[in-house]
Amino acid sequence: MPGITKLMGLAATALQSNFSQLKKPYKLNFAITYWCQSRCLSCNIWQFKPKGELTIDEIREFARKNRSFRWIELTGGEPFLRPDIVEIARAFHETSKGLYVMTIPTNSLCSHEMVVRRVEEILNLGIPRLAVTVSLDGYRELHDKIRGVPGNYDRAIEMFKRLKELSRHHRNLYAVFGYTMSKYNQWQLERTYTEVKKAIPSVTRNDFHINVAQTSSNYYGNSEMSLVADNEATVRELSAFVSMRRREFGIIGIVENAFLRTLLQYLKTGEMPLRSRSLDASFFLDSYGSVFPSIMWDRKIANLREINYDVSSVWRSELANEVRRDIAEGKEPKQWTACEAFQSLTGRITSLIR
Ligand code: SF4
Repeated sequence: MPGITKLMGLAATALQSNFSQLKKPYKLNFAITYWCQSRCLSCNIWQFKPKGELTIDEIREFARKNRSFRWIELTGGEPFLRPDIVEIARAFHETSKGLYVMTIPTNSLCSHEMVVRRVEEILNLGIPRLAVTVSLDGYRELHDKIRGVPGNYDRAIEMFKRLKELSRHHRNLYAVFGYTMSKYNQWQLERTYTEVKKAIPSVTRNDFHINVAQTSSNYYGNSEMSLVADNEATVRELSAFVSMRRREFGIIGIVENAFLRTLLQYLKTGEMPLRSRSLDASFFLDSYGSVFPSIMWDRKIANLREINYDVSSVWRSELANEVRRDIAEGKEPKQWTACEAFQSLTGRITSLIR
């Protein structure tokens, strides 16, 4: 199926999700491993010692039995620590025929040669859009402190350059920095951008994908943490940065701009700017096969190993419907994060431009 057809399929499904309950989810957030070499201050995943993560055969079985995905986020931990990441991408590409976009973050701590080789192998599968996000939370000293790994900043800069170089030969690759705002880097976004620009003169503010630090027990394992000290200051800092971004007209740029606008709204009001699409458009799958509504909520629906890897067998279960009712009543934890917000935004944007 050509890329434009898949893009139209994604847009049509997102639009449909605005008006009716989808029969099957089109977005998958999948933590393929919890192994991670970072020592981040804001996330406890690096402290996990995962055992019994899904094998490639199990993932292939899951992909074979669940073919409706148009958008997949492969996350971690550090996703490139899985030596079979290309096979994982291949399993979904071969089974979800409408798959348009795959996104993968990296902490830049794996061998760059290996990451670039694997990214190129994934690109060669023919997925129309691959977005790789290079985590970067500050200038050199700050990033290394937040991430707990000396030299991590320099590795992130080099990783970004390598991916940008690769994108010159692969137009379906989209490389960005992923900057997470928290109390650890308050008021340091502009300085970070300025420092990065010295190292990479071609970089613009649009090369930064911004998120605000989140907490959850079923993903980050950091629910006891308080990560944003001052919402008002975060709004001012983010507003100033966003106001200097270029206008973008591509689908990713439009969705990104809408995300930033609604993120500001969320920070100002504490209320979800749009209705949650958890367990309708999307779900979160952890590396052990547990199915959750989102990365933010530990209301487990099932485990793949108990349902023969077929999520459709529990998609309309009593428990899933009960959780949906709770979501509709606003009982889901309120957090506006890119992984979950983009489904709400895509539906809204497609309804506005149809
Ligand atoms: S934020 Fe990412 S890099 Fe840091 S510990 Fe968590 S999974 Fe690892």
